[in-house]
Amino acid sequence: MATESFGFQAEISQLLDLIINTFYSNKEIFLRELISNASDALDKIRYASLTDPSVLDSGKELYIRIIPDKENRILSIRDTGIGMTKADLVNNLGTIAKSGTKASSSTGFMEALSSGADISMIGQFGVGFYSAYLVAERVQFISKHNDDEQYIWESSAGGTFTITADTVNPPLGRGSEVRLYLKEDQAEYLEEKRIKDIVKKHSEFISYPIQLAVVKEVEKSKMRRWRPEEEKKDESKIEEVDEDEDKAKDKKKKTIKEKQVTNEELNKTKPIWTRNPSDITQEEYSAFYKSLTNDWEDHLAVKHFSVEGQLEFKAILFVPKRAPFDLFESKKKRNNIKLYVRRVFIMDDCEELIPEYLNFIKGIVDSEDLPLNISRETLQQNKILKVIRKNIVKKCMDVFSEIAEDKDNFNKFYEAFGKNIKLGIHEDSQNRSKLAEFLRFYSTKSSEEMTSLKDYITRMPEIQKSIYYLTGESLAAVKESPFLEVLKKKGFEVLLLVDPIDEYAITQLKEFEGKKLVCVSKEGLELEETEEEKQAREEEAKQFSDLCSMMKETLGDKVEKVVVSNRISDSPCVLVTGQFGWSSNMERIMKAQALRDSSMSSYMASKKTLELNPHNAIVRELKRKVAEDKADKSVRDLTYLLFETALLTSGFSLEDPSSFSKRIHRMISLGLDVGEEESAEPTSAAPPPPAEASTSAMEEID
Ligand code: ADP
Ligand code: MG
Repeated sequence: MATESFGFQAEISQLLDLIINTFYSNKEIFLRELISNASDALDKIRYASLTDPSVLDSGKELYIRIIPDKENRILSIRDTGIGMTKADLVNNLGTIAKSGTKASSSTGFMEALSSGADISMIGQFGVGFYSAYLVAERVQFISKHNDDEQYIWESSAGGTFTITADTVNPPLGRGSEVRLYLKEDQAEYLEEKRIKDIVKKHSEFISYPIQLAVVKEVEKSKMRRWRPEEEKKDESKIEEVDEDEDKAKDKKKKTIKEKQVTNEELNKTKPIWTRNPSDITQEEYSAFYKSLTNDWEDHLAVKHFSVEGQLEFKAILFVPKRAPFDLFESKKKRNNIKLYVRRVFIMDDCEELIPEYLNFIKGIVDSEDLPLNISRETLQQNKILKVIRKNIVKKCMDVFSEIAEDKDNFNKFYEAFGKNIKLGIHEDSQNRSKLAEFLRFYSTKSSEEMTSLKDYITRMPEIQKSIYYLTGESLAAVKESPFLEVLKKKGFEVLLLVDPIDEYAITQLKEFEGKKLVCVSKEGLELEETEEEKQAREEEAKQFSDLCSMMKETLGDKVEKVVVSNRISDSPCVLVTGQFGWSSNMERIMKAQALRDSSMSSYMASKKTLELNPHNAIVRELKRKVAEDKADKSVRDLTYLLFETALLTSGFSLEDPSSFSKRIHRMISLGLDVGEEESAEPTSAAPPPPAEASTSAMEEID
């Protein structure tokens, strides 16, 4: 039969080299990976059979069988799963998969390895099959899919593999057999005891029987010969020791020795979720978690519960310690919560079971009520599933609360999944206030450690009514913001929100425990103030009204209005935005998202109000000039400079940085007292202010 040769995709070749050449002692994990693949293949055929029972005509029994062959140093792993067609073999085991995901996963895995990851983590990166080469010098993958003939995939690495129509091996019926031609020094994996230990350690919770073909020598009288029909397992083989040889050795004995193969089941424990939680140890949960997720680390927290009543189900939910490397690659299908119906596996990417923002939760759900042949289409409308989902979300909230009892654990959790919590606040209105309890932010009073909203409230002075926050690009950028000046003086704590998603979450949240969340860089900041403070401010508003109107006139539609501020005490001025429009931070985020529809930006883009500090010397001097009717070009020019510096300190970017820097350079020239010739360049066409005007303006102010 013709054998076709293929080249491995470059990344896979590289990965294989690495697996073969790296010194690595924990090789046993190859068996876990192959069993996990077999189990996945069995899941697939079982699921297909729910809607079309005839797919099992090629074999009803679903099992995984490990067959050691000591004489030939071959270890085989057989499954009666879905199998692979010839095209599947090519695509899944070596060449460029349609999506190219195998390339990125193997690169991902290799990168992880070079930054300290371990080969045993291979399963998480979606290239687990290749771990076979930890122990094998040559691998055959024999497979039979219902839609195709039986094929042999074979490779000894070295960049190539072959595919041959199988005319030599016994027919599989359906499923696969991976044959590992073990390296000389890896014969230990043929030992019964070793195999049993590995399966117990890594694959105990596989929900299909894992059989080990064990050979026993039995003595039998010559009269009672074994007959094939006595053996119940259809594929068990019996080898007879050569009778003549036997006779020659022991002529007097009337018995012969027979080697008999029996299939011993290695994972007889009943599903862990059906057991009583109080009988299950942490080690058992952790072993189950690892077998479920391929994670190499223990879980952070677990919730095992059952719901009874009009609806019945059992579930185990795990919170991992870390986010997977591709948590927010939304297009990737996730195998997070496995759905079972009365102990039968149904599917492992049931989106209806859990909302998107909880996509990091792993676990299983076993329902007593759903129909076995439930299809993906009917899942969406299914009422039972909706109730299950609601319960799961609630239990997730419970488990987060439990994690929050330990600060260190919660910090780990928040670092890994804080974004998910914030996403939840944005999306899940029902659980919004519960989720808000898990938020942690830096603040002006706790810049090293993050604070919860609850703790923030306990620190609020009596007079303070609202929770204040400021958003920005980084802690460094917001820590010294002029928006914090008066709040700091008053002893009001301000939360510093520097994660882009913070702003989305907090604007949805609006309040926490009856306290409004107020952005300190937006219009209408009603700072709690005493009666005197209020009167003083009203008085100032009157005094500065001329200056305000002059500045507004100068700046034109660059600002909505110019008013006296109650929130700054040192800086001359700040720019605040409308209460319902974007903050400067949001404007920055939106500008960065280049593909956005630009019509929205002009609508939402911040309408800015310039707020003046009536106690600042510069502002007071300007006011004096206006009062003396000296509001000439110079004052207008300085107005521009103040506006532009306010843009910067308030978190905006400059529209026209070059004319801004020209103005600054002229100031520097003045400061250094260098001649006008050096600095006065030809004016740019950009309107105001003209260069000559501004130079003279500086002098006048001097
Ligand atoms: P993963 O299991 O994460 O997809 P692997 O490298 O372990 O990555 O396996 C690659 C692919 O090969 C699987 O996705 C599956 O399509 C196919 N495959 C592997 N083993 C089997 C098997 N025993 N039966 C059917 N398909 C298999
Ligand atoms: Mg796998």
